[in-house]
Amino acid sequence: MNAGVINEFRSILGDKALIVEREQLQTYECDALTNFRIVPGAVLLPTSTEQVQSILRICSREKIPFVARGSGTGLSGGALPSEKGIVISLARMNRILHVDIPNGRMIVEPGVINAAVTQRVSAQGYFYAPDPSSQQVCSIGGNVAENSGGAHCLKYGFTTTHVIGLEVVMPDGALVHMGSSTLDAAGYDLAGVFVGSEGTLGIATKVILRIVKRPEVIKTLLAAFNSTNEAGSAVSEIIAAGVLPAAIEMMDNLAIQAAEAAVHANYPNCGGLLLVELDGPNAEVVDLMEKVKAICNACGASEIRLAHSETERMLVWKGRKAAFAAMGRISPNYIVQDGVIPRTALPRVLSDIEKMSAEAGLRVANVFHAGDGNLHPLVLYDRRITGQEHAAEALAFDIVKLCVAAGGSITGEHGVGREKREFMSVMFAEPDLQTMQRVRCAFDPDGISNPEKVFPRPRLCGEKAGPYVPHPLEVAGVAELY
Ligand SMILES: Cc1cc2nc3c(=O)[nH]c(=O)nc-3n(C[C@H](O)[C@H](O)[C@H](O)COP(=O)(O)OP(=O)(O)OC[C@H]3O[C@@H](n4cnc5c(N)ncnc54)[C@H](O)[C@@H]3O)c2cc1C
Repeated sequence: MNAGVINEFRSILGDKALIVEREQLQTYECDALTNFRIVPGAVLLPTSTEQVQSILRICSREKIPFVARGSGTGLSGGALPSEKGIVISLARMNRILHVDIPNGRMIVEPGVINAAVTQRVSAQGYFYAPDPSSQQVCSIGGNVAENSGGAHCLKYGFTTTHVIGLEVVMPDGALVHMGSSTLDAAGYDLAGVFVGSEGTLGIATKVILRIVKRPEVIKTLLAAFNSTNEAGSAVSEIIAAGVLPAAIEMMDNLAIQAAEAAVHANYPNCGGLLLVELDGPNAEVVDLMEKVKAICNACGASEIRLAHSETERMLVWKGRKAAFAAMGRISPNYIVQDGVIPRTALPRVLSDIEKMSAEAGLRVANVFHAGDGNLHPLVLYDRRITGQEHAAEALAFDIVKLCVAAGGSITGEHGVGREKREFMSVMFAEPDLQTMQRVRCAFDPDGISNPEKVFPRPRLCGEKAGPYVPHPLEVAGVAELY
């Protein structure tokens, strides 16, 4: 990076909040999607909104691309640095600024860890509902940018339902406020536009969150089925019966094996396991639990078990939330896919994935938010075997196409990021993408806020949607891709 610019950053932040040594920069070369890596030019760790503003004014003047970073747990390469750009880590902006229990509101800085929000208000009987499995480490800023979900978003809604206001530093350094702490703010719903924008519209420096009262009773049931097909039918039947559980999660046998090896959650060894959680007033939960049990039995459940204590319930969730990381116990490498389908299509799509997995000769584990129809097929492979990584990527892409064909989406909660930008044209027509691009340009006319993410890059002739395949001219060494 230009030494003069580095000195300007140093004068804003001091030496201890500026990283320029290559070994240290490598810590920031990727997020949790590790197959994309770029070492940034510098990493800046501001502690105030004013510092973020000063940094972005320089970026705007010098046209330096910047990428905001929370905890780096993103699974779509959203926090992947830009070539010749800087990373702005919000990890040190991690204060809870205001707690307003009577109005169910909290104001936090973006680096606050998701689980810390609930911890702060649990003594008063409140909680923050969106609960990604990564909630012990991921940041609220990252959750806002990705519109993150979690097991309990089926009943309580995704991050967007719980973020009612934002303070944002625009890519030119201007400070703006979107939404407010009251509902129904006047004007365009800019907070709604910002949530899920994956860092492409500026940097959130304060977030107004909605917190909710903890229900009187929470009960969790485990239902074991011979196959994911039967378990999928039970999910559709439960919702069709008018029951809205707080969560319905599904794990197949591979996912159960991995979670058991890591956490010993004492799950039944079966083909398809449902975790159904009901919450609310005691009488209602007791009544609905009987309905859920009857539906599971009618759909062929071989075993139904209630968690009898809070410790048992926590262990059930620990196994589920550890499932991605636990895949390392059964496979050296894996790709986590994130697609959405209509709930009623679960049995058919799960069978199709099973067939595709057999045809590709690669194992696919399934652990996902079944109530939302948000699939997380994990394509297992071994990078050391020539060709397996490519075959795994191709299978993961075919699974996404299957989701879109079933009337679903290319991503439920992990975002488009760098990984799925080429998939956008599988789902959206050119006018849709152009409309999104106009919104982006209104916020960031110079295209410096997390560039190269979300939108497909312009295509060379003959290129197709999907994972990047080099153009024949590139392979022949006649043309180069910039
Ligand atoms: C084991 C595991 C389990 C997971 N489970 C879930 C799950 O259940 N549900 C789910 O939704 N996700 C899940 N994720 C994905 C990930 O944890 C979420 O996407 C999370 O919200 C990312 O937060 P982060 O702080 O790590 O953000 P990062 O990875 O650092 O960044 C993510 C994106 O947010 C942008 N960003 C970060 N901070 C800001 C800011 N202040 N202003 C503007 N943009 C910003 C970045 O530029 C980037 O585009 C999981 C990940 C792992 C590794």
